[in-house]
Amino acid sequence: MKKIIIIGAGVGGLASGIRLLKMGFDVEIFEKNEKVGGRMYQIEEKGFKFDVGPTIVMMPEIYNEIFELSGVDPKDYIDMSLLSPMYDIHFKDQTKLRISTDLTQLVSQLEKIDPKDAQGYLAYLSDVYKRFLIAKEHFLMKSYSKPIQFYNPKSLYHLLRLRTLNSAYDSISSFVKDEKLRQALSFQTLYIGVSPFTGPSIYTIIPMIELLYGVWYIKGGMYEMANQMKRRFLEMGGKLRLNENVSEILIKDRLAYGVVSNEEHHHSDIVLTNADFPYANSELIKNEKDKGKYTTKKIHKMSYSASSLVIYLGLDKKYKTNVHTLRFAKDFKKNINDLFEFNVPEDPSFYMYSPTQVDETLSPKGKEIIYVLVPVPSLHKGMTSWSEAFQKQYVNEVLDMISQIDEFNDIKDHIEVMRVFTPDDFKKQFNLQFGATFGLRPVVTQSLYFRPQARSKTVKNLYFVGSSNHPGAGVPIVMLSADIVTREIKKDSEK
Ligand SMILES: Cc1cc2nc3c(=O)[nH]c(=O)nc-3n(C[C@H](O)[C@H](O)[C@H](O)COP(=O)(O)OP(=O)(O)OC[C@H]3O[C@@H](n4cnc5c(N)ncnc54)[C@H](O)[C@@H]3O)c2cc1C
Repeated sequence: MKKIIIIGAGVGGLASGIRLLKMGFDVEIFEKNEKVGGRMYQIEEKGFKFDVGPTIVMMPEIYNEIFELSGVDPKDYIDMSLLSPMYDIHFKDQTKLRISTDLTQLVSQLEKIDPKDAQGYLAYLSDVYKRFLIAKEHFLMKSYSKPIQFYNPKSLYHLLRLRTLNSAYDSISSFVKDEKLRQALSFQTLYIGVSPFTGPSIYTIIPMIELLYGVWYIKGGMYEMANQMKRRFLEMGGKLRLNENVSEILIKDRLAYGVVSNEEHHHSDIVLTNADFPYANSELIKNEKDKGKYTTKKIHKMSYSASSLVIYLGLDKKYKTNVHTLRFAKDFKKNINDLFEFNVPEDPSFYMYSPTQVDETLSPKGKEIIYVLVPVPSLHKGMTSWSEAFQKQYVNEVLDMISQIDEFNDIKDHIEVMRVFTPDDFKKQFNLQFGATFGLRPVVTQSLYFRPQARSKTVKNLYFVGSSNHPGAGVPIVMLSADIVTREIKKDSEK
């Protein structure tokens, strides 16, 4: 039985581990942190349990699939429910938009804006659904180990059918005229750290996926998914080593044969790295020649997603709000441009998550969790580190902005616990280059064939899985990356 070492127990590492065990490999995961999950981590304080990173569950069938394929009923592992309404959006002028998956409710909201925009919205859904089916069938699940797999007439034909060269915002604007509606349908590109004003229009599939397949909630929060994947991995005979900081991938004559962790050598037939690609390729592969085209210099110059400032609030009062709420800046375009011009926004848009609206297991009785995510630039050019003084001042400004929303006027008086993750914390805790929370930015030149692939082109028996690899960031998308890489490993092992 071939032995595989996986570096990292993020969603990519855990999902790959389960798939590889099912295929009959001997699998051992080395994780630097004391808990699994990677960005899907959890912090606990005074009875409050905070999800650190992801919170929005989309494409539930992909979450279920990892349990199903391993031969168990997902319901015995995760308890998922549909959220309706999906979220509320607050605009600076105190108006509010409620987005629901219930078509009757949604259309009634849209008609209040303008019946023509309601019609445009439905036309947008139909158009983008068609493009989504093309992307799913011809691009998302493909691996591109050879140029011919991308540069062939069939693939280029389907690429043209995707019509992805204009921006997400421009594409949406051709369907709806109302500015607030345009923002409500394009901000979702920020889920993968790209600007709606420059990000390829194919990412307008994200709001479509939300509407047609729903936004779901996992009881216990997003961390419960990681925790249950860990349970399944161990049940299947996988070995998990926590607090193991891998410092090198062992390579000789272009062949990977193990890792160095906490200064000890561990040998294996195959190494699969789930640590984010830019970090793994530049830090864990020691010889420049083994890095292939992704030299340390190139990695440094690549384009990165935005980062996040996340404020985790444990409150001693219940608030009546939605699980997901957004607050948009007055000048949305300036706010977004600031992110990619490396200015910390003065009037930021932000997202709030209150899982305790539907889940009593995450806080002491009668108390509430509010997690506030402010998209901020990655640690580049303008600001390469957040000082403590700046962090304090900025967090306070954000709390003042939240207090301006009616429901949260007194929020500052009810904070029992407050924790903060800055881009520096994301960089340090999960080894994310420049603290970019969604990894390599999925611009056209870093997508599909042009994104780092599953199999190393220079080193045999070395593979990659995760957000910065094809197909990209987001929990379900990384699970697709695990599907792709494990199929490659199986195919290569049978040669
Ligand atoms: C704030 C935030 C909000 C998000 N919101 C959403 C959302 O709502 N919905 C959604 O679907 N996605 C969301 N995402 C994106 C999603 O979390 C990620 O795309 C996904 O979790 C990444 O998984 P991964 O396996 O690629 O990487 P990671 O989660 O980064 O896992 C990699 C693992 O490798 C470990 N590692 C790194 N270096 C080493 C080393 N040297 N030795 C040993 N171990 C190492 C890390 O500790 C980590 O556990 C969000 C992300 C963030 C940060």
